[in-house]
Amino acid sequence: MRVWQLVRPGELRLETVDVPEPGDGEVLARVSLALTCGTDLKTLDRGHARLKVPSPLGHEWAGSVAAVGPGVHGLAPGTRIVCTPTAPCGDCAYCLRGAENLCLHLFEHTALGAYGEYILVPRQIVNRNAFRIPEGVSDVRAAFLEPLACLVHGANLLNLGGDRTLAFLGDGPMALAFVMLARLCGAGRIAVIGLNRGRLETARLLGADVTVDANEGDPLGAVKEMSDGLGADSVVECVGRPEVWESAVSLVRRGGEVLFFGGCERGTMVNLDTERVHYDELTLKGGFHYTPDTVRRAWELICAGNLTLETLVTHEMSLGGLPEAFDRMRRREALKVAIIP
Ligand SMILES: [Zn+2]
Ligand SMILES: [Zn+2]
Repeated sequence: MRVWQLVRPGELRLETVDVPEPGDGEVLARVSLALTCGTDLKTLDRGHARLKVPSPLGHEWAGSVAAVGPGVHGLAPGTRIVCTPTAPCGDCAYCLRGAENLCLHLFEHTALGAYGEYILVPRQIVNRNAFRIPEGVSDVRAAFLEPLACLVHGANLLNLGGDRTLAFLGDGPMALAFVMLARLCGAGRIAVIGLNRGRLETARLLGADVTVDANEGDPLGAVKEMSDGLGADSVVECVGRPEVWESAVSLVRRGGEVLFFGGCERGTMVNLDTERVHYDELTLKGGFHYTPDTVRRAWELICAGNLTLETLVTHEMSLGGLPEAFDRMRRREALKVAIIP
């Protein structure tokens, strides 16, 4: 089988390897479709704080059962399935505190290599974060399980609803999907600050009230205008760059909250205006990954079909087209690309 391997940051290689044999509790799936993800692009370009390389790449996919290992029941070959790339151990200090997204063993048993023909799903994931795809749910929609689970986790960290104002920094697929989810959660006025006119138009279609092109517009002025001059109740950083983290803090009102949802390059630092943080009593928080609860909630949302996530898939390519897919994402021509092996 063929699978894209991240050899080291900057080097991606399409390799031919043996189809893995599923061991105890494991499922081997044939990938029907994989979605590109900004995290994969960041990992390719600059490495990842948690993920070790070399590693097979790709973690958003839908497929069907090809074979199962001993102890797996009820998953006949051909059954359509989807899963997240990790599952918590359930037993470490963080899992026992209910912070399963921070599990000490999260990255020990992963399902990675969705940019390939087959993918092996470890027992921990089969048991906790895998689902049969019902009829009527397309592969492309099902493949949003992992990003949507992260978004549900992020939304849980925010005080949404009511008439609250929300500002997103970023116009990538995660920011746009977050806009959709925030609308569903009953957010008040939503602003999206980005760099790409086409994406900002999409943001409007998906529910943003105000969009600002940061190349030419005045993000702070626009956010203040929609919030009676105060600043946003909640600001969500969906880019993952230190300078954008800093500008996120400048957009929030007194007593407001900032969610740093985009992970930055390892070793980077930010400058904080201490006066704002202390005297304006800001709440600054990180948001990372997902828990089995948010995965389940994301799966319910996907099956219910009230988020038009497919809108975010702008291109379709074959397995060999992955480097071009990433190029298009870098040039901001593509939001998400469906890779069909
Ligand atoms: Zn992802
Ligand atoms: Zn754990």
